Amino acid sequence: MENKIFETKTGIKVIDTPFLTAQLSLYLILEGDKAVLIDTGVADTPKTYIDKFLSDNGLSYSNIENVIITHAHHDHFGGNYYVSQKNPLIKFISHKLDYEWIEDHQKHYHEMYLTHAPIWMPDEAYKDGLLQMCGKNSVVHQTMDDPKTTLNLLGNWQLEAIHIGSHTKGEIILHSKKHDTVFTSDTIQGCGSQLETGCAVFPLINDLEKYIDALHLLRDLNCHYVCTSHQGVLDKAEFTIEIETSFKFIEDLLNNIKGLFNNPISLNELVDSLWKEFYSNYEKGFQIYATTYAFCNYLKDKEIISKISDDGVLKWVMTKA
Ligand SMILES: [Zn+2]
Repeated sequence: MENKIFETKTGIKVIDTPFLTAQLSLYLILEGDKAVLIDTGVADTPKTYIDKFLSDNGLSYSNIENVIITHAHHDHFGGNYYVSQKNPLIKFISHKLDYEWIEDHQKHYHEMYLTHAPIWMPDEAYKDGLLQMCGKNSVVHQTMDDPKTTLNLLGNWQLEAIHIGSHTKGEIILHSKKHDTVFTSDTIQGCGSQLETGCAVFPLINDLEKYIDALHLLRDLNCHYVCTSHQGVLDKAEFTIEIETSFKFIEDLLNNIKGLFNNPISLNELVDSLWKEFYSNYEKGFQIYATTYAFCNYLKDKEIISKISDDGVLKWVMTKA
């Protein structure tokens, strides 16, 4: 939907920035002359876009009291160092399960991108590009670890942080009853994101059970405005389509995976077959390995498949009834 309509109705500002060949939206909640910023983009986002946005709106970093980081990915926390240098009084908030990756980018790189090494590993150029987008290390001041945390911000104003934990372990969504708005960050994965290069990025789902719960939760919240990080603000009709697309993607992927267990199969073989047969329009990047692994764990929890060691190689097999 149009940012203007959303901004007029809620008083929340949208900071739209380009991100690689996609889009990245940050949000600024204003109460009087005090503000909360949701996410900071990649390392050069604040200097390139937030500086100008603030001055165009008669604001500065001194108006910002809090920054909430929705999850520990470089396009959400990368601008933290720059923002913290502009106003050292800003309190940075995140979920407890994500704060170490948000603070320490070498740790983030090693624990996330090397999860499936050596089956999938970034090369040096990928690593350097990633760490550059992460910016310098910077501190998180307050962490949350309850399923729901009510944040009392900007005087007498409340924002509910709800733990999701699928896209990253400490992923949260933020619900504002007052504005009938939910900030979903990257929670709704749809069928991934299309790049201008013609290629697409596979959805990143690390916990399928939690992802399904999140989609149901968002549907039940039934907010008028759904603020996403990469598709801007959705109205109810657009949101409904995204939720349906997300459920359909999960169902198809589960069925496609289940069809490949005729023989014991490793993660590497499984991704190869999935990619060749169904998903060759996607990048064969970290996401397809992580998501396939998560879907297999889901099937294993349901006792549909089990794991064996085939001469030292871990493989999944169909569980005999
Ligand atoms: Zn993300």
